[in-house]
Amino acid sequence: MSRLRGSRFGAHGSAVGRLAPTPSGWLHLGNARSFLLAWLWARSTGGRAIMRIEDIDRPRCRPELREAALSELAWLGLDWDAGPKAGDPPGEYDQGTRFELYRKHLHTLAETGLAYPCTCTRKDIEQASSAPHGDEGAIYPGTCRGRWDSYEQAKRDSGIEPAWRFRFEGAPIRFHDHVSGDVSIDPSTLGDFVLWRRDDLPSYQLAVTVDDALMGVTQVLRGRDLLTSTARQLALYAALGLNAPAQWAHAPFVQDAQGRRMAKRDGDLSLNHLRAAGVDPSRVIGLLAWSAGLLETPRPATPRELVGEFRIGHVGREDFVVTRQHLDWLHAK
Ligand code: GLU
Ligand code: ZN
Repeated sequence: MSRLRGSRFGAHGSAVGRLAPTPSGWLHLGNARSFLLAWLWARSTGGRAIMRIEDIDRPRCRPELREAALSELAWLGLDWDAGPKAGDPPGEYDQGTRFELYRKHLHTLAETGLAYPCTCTRKDIEQASSAPHGDEGAIYPGTCRGRWDSYEQAKRDSGIEPAWRFRFEGAPIRFHDHVSGDVSIDPSTLGDFVLWRRDDLPSYQLAVTVDDALMGVTQVLRGRDLLTSTARQLALYAALGLNAPAQWAHAPFVQDAQGRRMAKRDGDLSLNHLRAAGVDPSRVIGLLAWSAGLLETPRPATPRELVGEFRIGHVGREDFVVTRQHLDWLHAK
């Protein structure tokens, strides 16, 4: 497999960032802010930007949402050096076309005993782990560690299709986050996580690790919900002998007026809705840049004109709550 080796990207020590939308819902202001910041970080450090479509959850992803994401991000004034543009058919930057690569890396982990088959259902896990809960619900209690000799045996004896889990153990994982500062996460607080799902799909953790490594990504900026996943991914880079991105930033959320994290249900705050309502994209950029501490007051702006002033250290830590006044400002002419 020679596709997307690091040599094609990130050569000569230059920065490589990525925008990684998941086309299972409409992009909203929160996604737009993360992508704007990731783009500014890459461009302000003289780097390249990659567009990657994270459609591993095939049953939930839809072609029209992929198309909308590509076209809305371009509408905002973001561009990228590698990856699809609106109108392009799925290709090598769509995770859905890359399953063989992920499978190959799963095999590497299985061969070294770092991946093992797990036949537990969600209910089994909830019942077995009485006390602690991690960031993804009940912490997996390790029931299937060393339980099965092989995937085939696990399947035969349990009568179900097993998942694969990563043996996540050892010393705390430490990294520097450009928004939160120094982070240290003990693997036991997260538990063994899924690499390959029972419904035969790769997990987010495996796919994103393989892709960030093979695409030569050097800097990752994404939502703060993924801070703990960075610990998981750093363990996978080490286990697979892959180069990890050197720089991490986990940005705060955009919330709706009810103080809820913005989600795919928030139609009024979707880029699709704002665009159809005739909102000027430079107002979207200006509001988001101001909300992240990059402008003193909201004013229409293009991503390009923010590059010179951008400093990753200036991105604030506070979540941004979108109010009626903000929306009125967005919709003003
Ligand atoms: N695809 C994820 C999202 O849309 C981002 C994952 C990542 O940046 O690692 O939220
Ligand atoms: Zn299990």
